[in-house]
Amino acid sequence: MLASRKVSAGANVKKGQFIGYMGNTGQSTGMHLHFELHSPAWNSSKSGKLDPAKYVQF
Ligand SMILES: [Zn+2]
Repeated sequence: MLASRKVSAGANVKKGQFIGYMGNTGQSTGMHLHFELHSPAWNSSKSGKLDPAKYVQF
């Protein structure tokens, strides 16, 4: 599979920056850029999931 993630852990990103490729894998019904924030790192129970709205400025 194409490595779709183009930023690494801890990176600060800016509006308009390329962060990943769009795709349609997994339980997906359409093309999208899948974006989640986790701290500590992602795990299968997603115990570290964070609300992106608290970290993204609109
Ligand atoms: Zn997704």
